[in-house]
Amino acid sequence: MGAVEVRDIRKKYENVEALKGVSFDVDKGEIFGIIGPDGAGKTTLFRVLTTLILADSGSATVDGDDVVKDFKRIRNKIGYMPGRFSLYQDLSVEENLKVFASIFNTSVEENYYLIKDIYQQIEPFKKRRAGALSGGMKQKLALSCALIHKPVVLFLDEPTTGVDPVSRKEFWDMLYKLRNEGITILVSTPYMDEASLCDRIALIQEGAFLKIDTPQGIVEQYDRTLWSIQSAEMSRLLKDLRANDSIDSCFAFGDAHHSTICKGKLKSEGGTFDQENLKAYLTEKQHSEIEIKTIQASIEDCFMEMTR
Ligand code: ADP
Repeated sequence: MGAVEVRDIRKKYENVEALKGVSFDVDKGEIFGIIGPDGAGKTTLFRVLTTLILADSGSATVDGDDVVKDFKRIRNKIGYMPGRFSLYQDLSVEENLKVFASIFNTSVEENYYLIKDIYQQIEPFKKRRAGALSGGMKQKLALSCALIHKPVVLFLDEPTTGVDPVSRKEFWDMLYKLRNEGITILVSTPYMDEASLCDRIALIQEGAFLKIDTPQGIVEQYDRTLWSIQSAEMSRLLKDLRANDSIDSCFAFGDAHHSTICKGKLKSEGGTFDQENLKAYLTEKQHSEIEIKTIQASIEDCFMEMTR
Protein backbone atom coordinates (compact mmCIF):
# COMPACT_ATOMS: atom_id res chain seq x y z
CA MET A 1 0.00 0.00 0.00
CA GLY A 2 1.33 3.40 -0.99
CA ALA A 3 1.16 6.38 1.38
CA VAL A 4 -1.05 8.14 -1.20
CA GLU A 5 -2.89 6.44 -4.08
CA VAL A 6 -4.76 8.56 -6.60
CA ARG A 7 -6.86 7.20 -9.47
CA ASP A 8 -8.31 9.37 -12.25
CA ILE A 9 -9.31 12.33 -10.09
CA ARG A 10 -11.35 14.95 -11.92
CA LYS A 11 -12.58 18.31 -10.64
CA LYS A 12 -14.38 21.08 -12.47
CA TYR A 13 -15.26 24.58 -11.22
CA GLU A 14 -18.05 25.98 -13.38
CA ASN A 15 -16.28 26.03 -16.75
CA VAL A 16 -12.69 25.42 -15.56
CA GLU A 17 -11.43 21.82 -15.60
CA ALA A 18 -8.97 22.15 -12.70
CA LEU A 19 -8.07 18.41 -12.68
CA LYS A 20 -8.49 16.32 -15.82
CA GLY A 21 -8.00 12.75 -14.59
CA VAL A 22 -4.90 12.63 -12.41
CA SER A 23 -3.43 9.29 -11.23
CA PHE A 24 -0.29 8.59 -9.21
CA ASP A 25 1.11 6.77 -6.16
CA VAL A 26 3.40 8.13 -3.49
CA ASP A 27 5.58 5.67 -1.56
CA LYS A 28 5.95 5.80 2.21
CA GLY A 29 8.75 8.08 3.32
CA GLU A 30 9.05 9.74 -0.08
CA ILE A 31 9.30 13.47 -0.88
CA PHE A 32 6.99 13.77 -3.89
CA GLY A 33 6.90 17.12 -5.69
CA ILE A 34 3.99 18.49 -7.72
CA ILE A 35 5.64 20.98 -10.02
CA GLY A 36 3.80 23.41 -12.25
CA PRO A 37 2.89 27.04 -12.88
CA ASP A 38 0.10 29.05 -11.25
CA GLY A 39 -3.34 27.75 -12.16
CA ALA A 40 -2.06 24.24 -13.04
CA GLY A 41 -4.30 22.53 -10.44
CA LYS A 42 -1.87 21.95 -7.55
CA THR A 43 -4.03 23.49 -4.80
CA THR A 44 -7.15 21.73 -6.08
CA LEU A 45 -5.34 18.39 -5.88
CA PHE A 46 -4.13 19.12 -2.35
CA ARG A 47 -7.65 20.11 -1.26
CA VAL A 48 -9.06 16.85 -2.58
CA LEU A 49 -6.35 14.81 -0.83
CA THR A 50 -6.71 16.68 2.46
CA THR A 51 -10.51 16.09 2.32
CA LEU A 52 -11.41 19.78 2.10
CA ILE A 53 -13.25 19.46 -1.22
CA LEU A 54 -14.82 16.53 -3.08
CA ALA A 55 -13.60 15.45 -6.50
CA ASP A 56 -16.25 15.06 -9.23
CA SER A 57 -15.01 11.54 -9.99
CA GLY A 58 -12.10 9.20 -9.35
CA SER A 59 -10.77 7.88 -6.06
CA ALA A 60 -7.91 8.53 -3.68
CA THR A 61 -6.54 7.08 -0.46
CA VAL A 62 -4.17 8.56 2.09
CA ASP A 63 -2.40 6.05 4.37
CA GLY A 64 -4.96 3.46 3.23
CA ASP A 65 -8.02 5.58 4.05
CA ASP A 66 -10.48 6.80 1.44
CA VAL A 67 -10.69 10.59 1.06
CA VAL A 68 -14.50 10.47 1.00
CA LYS A 69 -15.56 7.63 3.32
CA ASP A 70 -12.73 7.97 5.88
CA PHE A 71 -12.25 11.74 5.81
CA LYS A 72 -12.29 12.08 9.61
CA ARG A 73 -9.52 9.52 10.07
CA ILE A 74 -7.46 11.25 7.38
CA ARG A 75 -7.87 14.67 8.99
CA ASN A 76 -6.46 13.32 12.25
CA LYS A 77 -3.31 11.91 10.76
CA ILE A 78 -2.21 14.35 8.09
CA GLY A 79 -0.51 17.72 8.31
CA TYR A 80 -1.50 20.44 5.83
CA MET A 81 0.27 23.70 5.20
CA PRO A 82 -1.88 25.64 2.73
CA GLY A 83 -0.32 28.06 0.29
CA ARG A 84 -1.93 31.09 1.80
CA PHE A 85 -1.10 31.95 5.36
CA SER A 86 -3.18 29.64 7.53
CA LEU A 87 -2.34 30.76 11.05
CA TYR A 88 -4.31 32.82 13.53
CA GLN A 89 -2.88 36.25 12.77
CA ASP A 90 -3.91 37.81 16.09
CA LEU A 91 -2.52 35.02 18.25
CA SER A 92 1.14 34.91 19.23
CA VAL A 93 3.62 32.37 17.89
CA GLU A 94 3.34 30.13 20.97
CA GLU A 95 -0.45 30.50 21.15
CA ASN A 96 -0.76 29.33 17.54
CA LEU A 97 1.28 26.24 18.29
CA LYS A 98 -0.79 25.44 21.40
CA VAL A 99 -4.07 25.83 19.47
CA PHE A 100 -2.92 23.42 16.76
CA ALA A 101 -1.71 20.91 19.38
CA SER A 102 -5.05 21.06 21.21
CA ILE A 103 -7.08 20.63 17.99
CA PHE A 104 -5.30 17.30 17.55
CA ASN A 105 -5.59 16.31 21.24
CA THR A 106 -1.87 16.46 21.81
CA SER A 107 0.51 18.79 23.59
CA VAL A 108 3.40 20.87 22.27
CA GLU A 109 5.74 18.80 24.50
CA GLU A 110 4.71 15.39 23.15
CA ASN A 111 6.18 15.80 19.66
CA TYR A 112 8.46 18.75 20.35
CA TYR A 113 11.49 16.79 19.08
CA LEU A 114 9.98 16.89 15.57
CA ILE A 115 9.71 20.66 15.37
CA LYS A 116 12.62 21.58 17.67
CA ASP A 117 15.03 22.54 14.85
CA ILE A 118 12.65 24.95 13.17
CA TYR A 119 10.75 26.14 16.22
CA GLN A 120 13.95 27.14 18.04
CA GLN A 121 14.59 29.67 15.27
CA ILE A 122 11.30 31.46 15.93
CA GLU A 123 11.19 30.91 19.70
CA PRO A 124 12.86 34.29 20.48
CA PHE A 125 9.71 35.82 18.92
CA LYS A 126 7.22 33.55 20.65
CA LYS A 127 5.25 36.47 22.10
CA ARG A 128 4.97 38.20 18.72
CA ARG A 129 1.65 38.16 16.85
CA ALA A 130 1.80 35.71 13.93
CA GLY A 131 0.54 38.47 11.63
CA ALA A 132 3.64 40.54 12.41
CA LEU A 133 6.18 37.86 11.42
CA SER A 134 8.38 37.96 8.29
CA GLY A 135 7.63 35.54 5.39
CA GLY A 136 10.35 33.08 6.42
CA MET A 137 9.23 33.05 10.08
CA LYS A 138 5.57 32.61 9.16
CA GLN A 139 6.57 29.63 7.04
CA LYS A 140 8.49 28.07 9.97
CA LEU A 141 5.57 28.58 12.33
CA ALA A 142 3.09 27.16 9.78
CA LEU A 143 5.29 24.09 9.35
CA SER A 144 5.61 23.67 13.15
CA CYS A 145 1.81 23.83 13.45
CA ALA A 146 1.32 21.30 10.63
CA LEU A 147 3.74 18.91 12.35
CA ILE A 148 2.79 19.18 16.01
CA HIS A 149 0.62 16.03 15.96
CA LYS A 150 3.28 13.97 14.09
CA PRO A 151 1.34 13.42 10.87
CA VAL A 152 2.00 10.34 8.73
CA VAL A 153 1.65 12.36 5.54
CA LEU A 154 2.49 16.04 5.25
CA PHE A 155 0.94 18.18 2.49
CA LEU A 156 2.84 21.40 1.77
CA ASP A 157 1.22 23.66 -0.81
CA GLU A 158 3.80 26.08 -2.21
CA PRO A 159 5.57 26.38 1.16
CA THR A 160 8.47 28.44 -0.16
CA THR A 161 6.59 30.97 -2.28
CA GLY A 162 7.64 34.46 -1.21
CA VAL A 163 10.39 33.12 1.08
CA ASP A 164 14.02 34.26 0.84
CA PRO A 165 16.66 31.83 -0.56
CA VAL A 166 18.33 31.19 2.83
CA SER A 167 15.02 30.26 4.47
CA ARG A 168 14.16 28.11 1.44
CA LYS A 169 17.39 26.16 1.89
CA GLU A 170 16.76 25.71 5.64
CA PHE A 171 13.24 24.59 4.85
CA TRP A 172 14.42 21.85 2.50
CA ASP A 173 17.01 20.66 5.07
CA MET A 174 14.10 20.35 7.47
CA LEU A 175 12.08 18.28 4.98
CA TYR A 176 14.95 15.77 4.70
CA LYS A 177 14.99 15.41 8.50
CA LEU A 178 11.24 14.77 8.49
CA ARG A 179 11.65 12.17 5.76
CA ASN A 180 14.22 10.45 7.99
CA GLU A 181 11.50 10.27 10.66
CA GLY A 182 9.42 8.27 8.13
CA ILE A 183 7.00 11.09 7.28
CA THR A 184 5.76 11.07 3.67
CA ILE A 185 5.79 14.53 2.12
CA LEU A 186 3.80 15.91 -0.83
CA VAL A 187 5.06 19.33 -1.72
CA SER A 188 3.97 21.63 -4.52
CA THR A 189 6.08 24.39 -5.94
CA PRO A 190 6.22 26.70 -8.94
CA TYR A 191 10.05 26.84 -8.53
CA MET A 192 11.65 24.44 -10.99
CA ASP A 193 14.96 24.51 -9.08
CA GLU A 194 13.20 22.88 -6.12
CA ALA A 195 12.08 19.98 -8.33
CA SER A 196 15.54 18.44 -8.22
CA LEU A 197 15.36 18.34 -4.39
CA CYS A 198 12.43 15.85 -4.46
CA ASP A 199 12.73 12.05 -4.67
CA ARG A 200 10.17 11.99 -7.49
CA ILE A 201 8.17 14.68 -9.22
CA ALA A 202 5.03 15.07 -11.24
CA LEU A 203 5.00 17.88 -13.79
CA ILE A 204 1.50 19.33 -13.98
CA GLN A 205 -0.03 21.74 -16.47
CA GLU A 206 -3.68 22.72 -17.05
CA GLY A 207 -4.96 20.00 -14.74
CA ALA A 208 -3.03 17.11 -16.26
CA PHE A 209 0.23 15.37 -15.32
CA LEU A 210 2.75 15.55 -18.15
CA LYS A 211 5.24 13.16 -16.54
CA ILE A 212 6.06 11.39 -13.27
CA ASP A 213 9.66 10.34 -12.64
CA THR A 214 12.76 11.04 -10.59
CA PRO A 215 14.25 14.47 -11.40
CA GLN A 216 17.24 12.68 -12.92
CA GLY A 217 15.00 10.39 -14.98
CA ILE A 218 13.20 13.39 -16.46
CA VAL A 219 16.44 15.15 -17.36
CA GLU A 220 17.94 11.96 -18.87
CA GLN A 221 14.97 11.56 -21.23
CA TYR A 222 15.55 15.00 -22.75
CA ASP A 223 16.74 14.27 -26.29
CA ARG A 224 17.28 17.73 -27.83
CA THR A 225 20.53 19.64 -28.36
CA LEU A 226 20.37 22.66 -26.08
CA TRP A 227 22.44 25.83 -26.37
CA SER A 228 22.88 28.64 -23.87
CA ILE A 229 23.31 31.92 -25.74
CA GLN A 230 24.31 35.37 -24.50
CA SER A 231 25.19 38.72 -26.04
CA ALA A 232 25.45 42.32 -24.83
CA GLU A 233 21.79 42.99 -25.78
CA MET A 234 19.70 40.16 -24.39
CA SER A 235 16.20 41.32 -25.34
CA ARG A 236 17.15 42.01 -28.97
CA LEU A 237 19.01 38.69 -28.94
CA LEU A 238 15.79 36.83 -28.04
CA LYS A 239 13.97 38.34 -31.04
CA ASP A 240 16.87 37.65 -33.43
CA LEU A 241 17.18 34.05 -32.25
CA ARG A 242 13.45 33.45 -32.67
CA ALA A 243 13.67 34.90 -36.19
CA ASN A 244 16.34 32.37 -37.22
CA ASP A 245 14.95 29.47 -39.31
CA SER A 246 17.22 26.89 -37.67
CA ILE A 247 16.20 27.79 -34.10
CA ASP A 248 13.25 25.72 -32.95
CA SER A 249 12.58 27.26 -29.51
CA CYS A 250 14.14 30.05 -27.51
CA PHE A 251 13.37 31.08 -23.93
CA ALA A 252 14.95 33.51 -21.48
CA PHE A 253 16.52 31.59 -18.56
CA GLY A 254 18.06 33.90 -15.98
CA ASP A 255 21.08 35.58 -17.57
CA ALA A 256 21.09 33.47 -20.78
CA HIS A 257 18.69 32.32 -23.49
CA HIS A 258 18.18 28.60 -23.99
CA SER A 259 17.61 27.43 -27.56
CA THR A 260 16.84 24.13 -29.23
CA ILE A 261 17.64 23.60 -32.90
CA CYS A 262 15.17 22.39 -35.54
CA LYS A 263 15.40 18.62 -36.12
CA GLY A 264 17.78 17.69 -38.93
CA LYS A 265 19.37 21.17 -39.22
CA LEU A 266 22.46 20.46 -37.11
CA LYS A 267 25.66 19.35 -38.83
CA SER A 268 25.75 16.37 -36.46
CA GLU A 269 22.31 15.38 -37.84
CA GLY A 270 23.29 15.73 -41.49
CA GLY A 271 22.32 19.44 -41.81
CA THR A 272 24.48 22.54 -42.19
CA PHE A 273 23.88 24.47 -38.96
CA ASP A 274 26.34 24.76 -36.04
CA GLN A 275 27.48 27.27 -33.40
CA GLU A 276 29.83 28.98 -35.92
CA ASN A 277 26.87 29.63 -38.29
CA LEU A 278 24.85 31.07 -35.44
CA LYS A 279 27.72 33.28 -34.33
CA ALA A 280 28.07 34.61 -37.90
CA TYR A 281 24.31 35.29 -38.08
CA LEU A 282 24.37 37.17 -34.76
CA THR A 283 27.49 39.15 -35.74
CA GLU A 284 25.72 40.20 -38.94
CA LYS A 285 22.86 41.42 -36.72
CA GLN A 286 25.36 43.66 -34.89
CA HIS A 287 25.52 41.64 -31.67
CA SER A 288 28.68 41.81 -29.55
CA GLU A 289 30.06 39.71 -26.65
CA ILE A 290 28.39 36.64 -28.16
CA GLU A 291 28.72 33.42 -26.14
CA ILE A 292 27.26 30.11 -27.24
CA LYS A 293 27.60 26.89 -25.20
CA THR A 294 26.07 23.46 -25.37
CA ILE A 295 24.43 22.73 -22.00
CA GLN A 296 22.64 19.94 -20.11
CA ALA A 297 18.88 20.42 -19.81
CA SER A 298 17.45 21.39 -16.43
CA ILE A 299 13.98 20.33 -15.22
CA GLU A 300 12.71 23.69 -16.46
CA ASP A 301 14.06 23.02 -19.96
CA CYS A 302 12.30 19.63 -19.91
CA PHE A 303 9.07 21.29 -18.75
CA MET A 304 9.28 23.89 -21.53
CA GLU A 305 9.86 21.16 -24.12
CA MET A 306 6.88 19.11 -22.88
CA THR A 307 4.51 22.08 -22.84
CA ARG A 308 5.31 23.42 -26.33
P1 ADP B 1 -2.52 26.10 -8.66
O1 ADP B 1 -2.56 25.73 -7.21
O2 ADP B 1 -1.62 25.22 -9.47
O3 ADP B 1 -2.22 27.56 -8.87
P2 ADP B 1 -5.43 25.84 -8.60
O4 ADP B 1 -5.77 24.44 -8.21
O5 ADP B 1 -5.53 26.90 -7.55
O6 ADP B 1 -3.99 25.85 -9.29
O7 ADP B 1 -6.37 26.28 -9.81
C1 ADP B 1 -6.59 25.47 -10.97
C2 ADP B 1 -7.60 26.16 -11.86
O8 ADP B 1 -8.88 26.16 -11.22
C3 ADP B 1 -7.28 27.62 -12.16
O9 ADP B 1 -7.70 27.90 -13.47
C4 ADP B 1 -8.12 28.38 -11.15
O10 ADP B 1 -8.45 29.66 -11.63
C5 ADP B 1 -9.34 27.49 -11.04
N1 ADP B 1 -9.99 27.56 -9.69
C6 ADP B 1 -9.39 27.23 -8.52
N2 ADP B 1 -10.26 27.36 -7.50
C7 ADP B 1 -11.44 27.80 -8.04
C8 ADP B 1 -12.72 28.12 -7.52
N3 ADP B 1 -13.00 28.01 -6.21
N4 ADP B 1 -13.69 28.54 -8.40
C9 ADP B 1 -13.44 28.64 -9.72
N5 ADP B 1 -12.25 28.33 -10.29
C10 ADP B 1 -11.25 27.92 -9.48
